[in-house]
Order: sequence, then structure tokens, then C-alpha cells
Amino acid sequence: MMDSQAFRKYAHDFVDWMADYLENVQELPVKSKVQPGEIISQIPDAPPREGESMETVFEDFKNIILPGMTHWQSPNYFAYFTANSSYPSVLAEMLTATLAAQCMVWETSPAAAELEESMMNWLRDMIGLPDTFEGVIQDTASTATLVALLTAREMISRYRINKEGFSGEEFYRIYCSTEAHSSIEKAVKIAGFGKQNLVHIETDEQLAMQPEKLREAIQKDIDNGFSPLCVVAALGTTGTVAIDPLEPIGEICKTFDTWLHVDAAYAGTALVLPEQRYMIRGIENVDSFVFNPHKWMFTNFDCSAYFVRDTEALIRTFEILPEYLKTNTRGQVNDYRDWGIQLGRRFRALKLWFVIRDFGVEGIQNKVKDHIHWAGELGDAIRNEPGFKLFEPQHLGLVCFRYVPGDGLDTKEVNTLNDRLMKSLNDSGKMFLTHTKVNGEILLRVVVGQTSVTREHVFKAWELIKQTAANI
Ligand SMILES: *Cc1c(COP(=O)(O)O)cnc(C)c1O
Repeated sequence: MMDSQAFRKYAHDFVDWMADYLENVQELPVKSKVQPGEIISQIPDAPPREGESMETVFEDFKNIILPGMTHWQSPNYFAYFTANSSYPSVLAEMLTATLAAQCMVWETSPAAAELEESMMNWLRDMIGLPDTFEGVIQDTASTATLVALLTAREMISRYRINKEGFSGEEFYRIYCSTEAHSSIEKAVKIAGFGKQNLVHIETDEQLAMQPEKLREAIQKDIDNGFSPLCVVAALGTTGTVAIDPLEPIGEICKTFDTWLHVDAAYAGTALVLPEQRYMIRGIENVDSFVFNPHKWMFTNFDCSAYFVRDTEALIRTFEILPEYLKTNTRGQVNDYRDWGIQLGRRFRALKLWFVIRDFGVEGIQNKVKDHIHWAGELGDAIRNEPGFKLFEPQHLGLVCFRYVPGDGLDTKEVNTLNDRLMKSLNDSGKMFLTHTKVNGEILLRVVVGQTSVTREHVFKAWELIKQTAANI
């Protein structure tokens, strides 16, 4: 087993390796090229009986694990949404891992609780949410959305379902657009509402929720004896970053007295730019809001910021008080175990503190602004390129397009071509992108948002896309 002296040595070695890795990651094939089973076949079936040297373990990390990794921190990474990290974030995680504190209540690490409170206030102000919101860090947006639905469920049932369980008499309905993230459906299932009570509202040609269709659906449900419980609006859908119109949706939620939860997992970071705050016009009718600093705000996974107006309802939904967790400070401080699902919690506020202080708000704003600008420039290039079709309107750092050479091909043939184009690009190791489908048409997605991406990486990728398209 390792002693302190060896730890010191390996820690220094590893930091050198980490710095080298991040300096050179753009040279590595972005998407891992391994086949299914290739890694597991290299791991012994049984654990070692006697301890091995860290030397050996680290060699295996480099030889076995690394080839099986997709390099999310590569500036040639344009897939899904980014899951950014940054130097200050990694440094903070090293300290967090060293302290290895369980930050479930204030007393188990007062600094963790109070820094979390501060960081959530910083973030709230940075993205322009009203100060009537209070925040808590959740692991993921999926969890935050589940927390919102459970809180809404308890509010509407006057905390009865927590106590008695569903009686089978309740017919609550949840609404989101047809473009909403799968985590909404997952939360609806877990919260006990039943998948069939999730109502998908039609979108317009920009793929944003149509408020009038929402109003009609809610009215129809009321006429049929259902109870409208919650609307989940998307600021930035995963497919195309469509922006649901919060203002009219909020008015409808107010009329029908339903909870309004906003899923801004990706796009929320863009709200650091005042010019993007048109997205939160109507925020006064929003009950809860989630965005992921672990996507675009240079803070490594996991770190999801959940904001809620009625913290009392939140806490009433989740609080537990067994004898062994009773403390003397209850009521004076935030005990975050009562603000969500988990009891045990990582010290995640530290990395936010490091990132925000290292970048400064302006540093974050400038990077996000650059990403949006380069995505716009790439969009312009695609729009002007014969044989390519840009999907518009384009939002934030996402560029969706389709390769359509000539008029002679039907949708299926064009889809096959784009599929092949994507596979060929990803197999090249030089870039990684993913796709979505709109009205049966495959669109390729380029997300410009990686921490170390430059304009040059974006346009090198575009050259590669054109060249590869010409050759398939
Ligand atoms: C990424 C994403 C999610 C899921 O985020 P997790 O933090 O991984 O749960 C939810 N909604 C939208 C719109 C997303 O883009």
C-alpha cells in the first residue's frame, strides 16, 4: 500500500502527465476506436491478492484505459453537448478528493455548505435570475428535474403523497414539448405519475413549444378530470437548441396554477451574456430552473445548478430527521441533504469557486461569446456552400446541417449519405460530431463550446467535413 512519500512522488508525476495530456489531447483520436469487449478482455477476472505497484497500475491506465477513452476535453470534440473542464476545475477536484468530506449537512463541513450557498447566489446573479431564487447543486439536470416534479407533486397534494403514497385516484398531468429531453419522461416515471400522463405539446417550425397548443391541452385535461401539475419548458432543446417561449408559457401556468420548471441544461450558461437574456423573459412565472455548469461553464462533471423559488416546499418534500442526523444548528444554516435526493454529497462548490475566480465573470463571458460567434461564422460558411443545407434558426453554439448533393436524392438516400459522412468523420479520429433527426431528416450537429476550442479548430473541422463529403 502506498505511503505518504510515494503519494507525493506519484502525485507530482501524475500532474505532469495531466498537463501533458491536456496540452496534447488534440493529437489523440477524439472518439475511442475500441471494439465492444476490447477493454474488459484486458482486465483480469479477479482482483490481485497482493497489492501491486502504482507504476504497474499507471502503465495499465495508459495502455489499457486511455485507448478506450473518448477525449471530451479535445478541442476537436464537437459532439452532443460539451462536458467542459478547465485547469482551475481540475485543481479544485484534486483538493476535493483529498479532503474527501461528506457534505450532507452544515455540521459535517460548514465551509462546504456556506460556499455552496454563496456560489449559487453568484451563479444566480451571473445568469440574471431574480434574487427570489435560491440554489442548490445537484448531480445532474435529470435529478434536478425529478426534484422539481416531486416538489410540485407534494405541493399540489399538500404533502399527502409523501405520507400515504398514491391512492390511485390522482390523475396528474405533466407537459413538455415533443422536443424535450428524455430526462423529463424518466422523472415522470420515477415520480410515480405514469408515462401516459406526460403530455407532449407540438412544436412550431422552429421546434419550440406552441403555447396555444399547451393551453388547449391543459384545458382539455381539466375538462376530462385530470389535474395539470407541471409544465417543463426547454431553453435549448438537446436536438437543435430550440427555445420554448417562457413568457406566454408562464402566463398559461399562472392561469392554471401549475408549476413551471425550466430545463436550460445547456443554454443556461449563455445567460451570462446580457444579450441572451431574452430567453428568460417571463422568468417571474417560473418556479424552478436548472442549468449545468458541467456542460458549458468550464466546471467538470458533475455540477448542476438547480434554482427554486419556494425553498420551504423543496425542504418539506425531502427533509428527513433521524436521530443520528440531528444537529444544533438546524434552522440557522442550510442542510443540503434536505434539498434533494441524496444524503451524502460531494463538495462541488469548491470547483465552481475556483473556476469563477480564475476566469472572472468576463473571462467566462468572453469564451461563451466567442463560441457563439464562431458557431455563427460556421453557419454562414455552411449556408454559402453548395451541397450543404444549414438548419435555421441557429441557436448559441450549435450548428445543425445536412449534406445534400444535388436534387436527385430522396430523404432516405440523403440520410444514408449523412450517416456515412458522420461515421467517416468520427472514424478519422480528427473530430467527433453527432446527429439529430428533424421531420425524418438526419441533421449533423457541431457544438462549438469546448474549453480550449479555437476558431482554427472549428474551421479545420469544416474543411475536413467538406473534403470527406466530397469523397463519400
Ligand atoms: C444534457 C441535457 C439534459 C441532461 O443533463 P444531465 O445533467 O446529464 O442529466 C437535460 N436536458 C437537456 C435540455 C440537456 O441538454
